Amino acid sequence: MKVDWLIVGAGFTGCTLAERIATQLNQKVLLIDRRNHVGGNAYDYHDQNGILLHKYGPHIFHTNSKKVWDYLSAFTEWRPYHHHVRAVIDGKKVPVPFNLNSLRQLFPPSYAGRMEAALMAEYGFEVKVPILKMREHSNPELRTLADFIYKNVFYGYTLKQWELKPEQLDPLVTGRVPVYISRDDRYFQDTYQAMPRYGYSALFHRMLDNRNIRILLNTTFRELEDLARFNRMVYTGPVDDYFNHIHGHLPYRSLRFDLVTADEESVQEVGTINYPNDYDFTRITEQKHLSGQRLPVSTLVVEYPQRHVPGKTEPYYPIPREENYAQYNLYLKEVEKLNGTVLLAGRLADYKYYNMDQAVAHALKLFEDCVARQETASRHHGR
Ligand code: FAD
Ligand code: UDP
Repeated sequence: MKVDWLIVGAGFTGCTLAERIATQLNQKVLLIDRRNHVGGNAYDYHDQNGILLHKYGPHIFHTNSKKVWDYLSAFTEWRPYHHHVRAVIDGKKVPVPFNLNSLRQLFPPSYAGRMEAALMAEYGFEVKVPILKMREHSNPELRTLADFIYKNVFYGYTLKQWELKPEQLDPLVTGRVPVYISRDDRYFQDTYQAMPRYGYSALFHRMLDNRNIRILLNTTFRELEDLARFNRMVYTGPVDDYFNHIHGHLPYRSLRFDLVTADEESVQEVGTINYPNDYDFTRITEQKHLSGQRLPVSTLVVEYPQRHVPGKTEPYYPIPREENYAQYNLYLKEVEKLNGTVLLAGRLADYKYYNMDQAVAHALKLFEDCVARQETASRHHGR
């Protein structure tokens, strides 16, 4: 079979590009994945109790991009959902991101009131302050509070998750969960927050339902490289794999998920509870909060961070820090040498801590800037 495009990896990045190329350019796409399903890390399925589970960890959709929201809305209806997270600190379950309600729950009213006033005077209301920034504040009382939050919310969790201290990582990592001077207990404040009403897998199947798209599962790029005939290619797997690790293995972090089914309708008061200071796991998510299902049993997902061993574990997270960026930049130079003949994109190929909406936004941009524009140009030159 000869196709116009080979797309390696059927996650949000690969599926968005496949859909655009098939519907907007009317070109033929072969979409492959090493796994036995499409959807990448957002893949979901129903377990034996009928509970919708996310196989590679709980995925909550949120975005500020109207473009991404409108694009995905063509393939799914949505169920409104605002994610709430609590962290266990001193035996209390307090809202995370740490906010004014967390402060009130943990401290005596007189101290909490004074610090609330100080935070609002210093930063304002409904302002987000990364913890590493707050720790540098000139006011010693604010620094003491920041140290408390650092120690109780960030330090233990980050050590478990990354085997690194917060300051050994790009500040963007802990900056994802800034202290929020607010009474808004939601995990995200994005304009659009919702879950695909029938799940992510249903969304992907609608995206890919086009006669120009062929899907081949259980197939790696290396297995197919010399067999498939294609004009152009998109690769969304790990960038170091693509180049046969010529600059060494890029470090990734992995996870193990333990599933626990409880004979109760509901176990947790919120979707996720974080355990920064105890146990080997970081957080427990009750999937029914995300799906909104009403069933007599409930499944909990317990996340145990672990080292990534190539070939054995899944490379879930790039590890954002200077020395890894330097190694990634060596690969980026290799990408540049390809001169656009192969497009690399996605969380693994770009070695970037993308959320789902960012993966879709980048794929849409790549389509507009690199794919569609070049196709128009080559048509002009009477290719
Ligand atoms: P992926 O989904 O990783 O897809 C890449 C695909 O390529 C995979 O299916 C893989 O099997 C395939 N592949 C790789 N190499 C090869 C090869 N050589 N040959 C064939 N196939 C190959 N984002 C959110 O917005 N909200 C969340 O709540 C959220 N939670 C997350 C929780 C966890 C535990 C993790 C790990 C991520 C989470 N994310 C979340 C991020 C989200 O998973 C990513 O943004 C998204 O999956 C990126 O899509 P992608 O297509 O770039 O990559
Ligand atoms: N984090 C933390 N304590 C928390 C929540 C988050 O220390 O209670 C830090 C930790 O380093 C984590 C990062 O903030 O890896 C980003 O958290 P997020 O929930 O965004 O992680 P993800 O959902 O991507 O795993």
